[in-house]
Amino acid sequence: MAENVSKTPTMTALLKLDKGAENVALGEVPRPVAGPDEVVIGVYATGICGTDLHIQHDEFPSLPPVVMGHEVTGRVVEAGRGAEDWVGKRVSPETYFYTCDRCAACLAGRRNLCPTRKSIGSHVNGGFASHVVVPVRNLHEVHESVGEHAGALYEPLSCVAQCLCDPAVASPGDSALVVGPGAMGILTAQVLKAQGAVVTISGTPADQQRLDLAESLGLRPVLAADVENVTPGVGFDVVADASGNERGIDAGLSAIRKGGHYVQVGLTGKPISLAIDLICLKELVVTSGFASTPRSWHRVEQLIASGAVVLDPLITDVAPLSAWASSFERTRRADGVKLVLDPRLDT
Ligand SMILES: [Zn+2]
Ligand SMILES: [Zn+2]
Repeated sequence: MAENVSKTPTMTALLKLDKGAENVALGEVPRPVAGPDEVVIGVYATGICGTDLHIQHDEFPSLPPVVMGHEVTGRVVEAGRGAEDWVGKRVSPETYFYTCDRCAACLAGRRNLCPTRKSIGSHVNGGFASHVVVPVRNLHEVHESVGEHAGALYEPLSCVAQCLCDPAVASPGDSALVVGPGAMGILTAQVLKAQGAVVTISGTPADQQRLDLAESLGLRPVLAADVENVTPGVGFDVVADASGNERGIDAGLSAIRKGGHYVQVGLTGKPISLAIDLICLKELVVTSGFASTPRSWHRVEQLIASGAVVLDPLITDVAPLSAWASSFERTRRADGVKLVLDPRLDT
């Protein structure tokens, strides 16, 4: 009996166990404890992201063995010294567990570009588990209007805000095209709409459920084959690619007007072939963003509090950790919009 009391409590977690493709499985790890200026979050939901699929296939750097998952939301259940006032709050954390705070990028508020950053879910234990420990400075309170699972979309929205805000890429009255109606695409379209653009979002016939959802949010859905009929002979003022797909990016560059603004939101994960002369021939402005910054998280809070962006309709599936394999596979097939794992369903 005494032995049981002194044992470190463990929890079930989804782990990248070793380098190389696959090597992903559920396992038992010690339940984390909060150090000074840290909190433990009791996880309500962690979103499955393209990055998780890349980690699964060793296409994105990771430091195994590590608990995967970086799109986290839950409630603070334990706090270290200096973080006590966060206990009980519903939160979503920024993903950087460690940045040097001394390099030029860090000093400019661009922690996303710190060469020594370590993020949860790839280098430090993340959110596909019942509990995760994070630095208190990473916390953002989830707005009361957002559901328990949809708080997991704060992180993807912060990445979208990093691509589209500060400065805004669209002006009121601009026509905008978003290529790819997945979670990133629908978030991108909502932010462009909030900036005053008239937003069209394109997908393939296989995306019908996603396009219907986009339409219900006030966006104009269109099949990729019909994009050129939306602004015939002119082209869009702003095009954002959220497909990360060679054909999608190619179509986006073709659909943009001369002097227009092109934004790369999606990652392709591999080199692709593109008609890049279009950037010169059309004198395009091309911008992007990588991950998120404290400033883009501040944007998220304003976009949610004002109602300009809604998150809950994007959560199409909630599954226990034990169903991780089928949920990963469905994410790969672009089946559903945002799938999240809720570890409370495993007990
Ligand atoms: Zn992600
Ligand atoms: Zn740094």
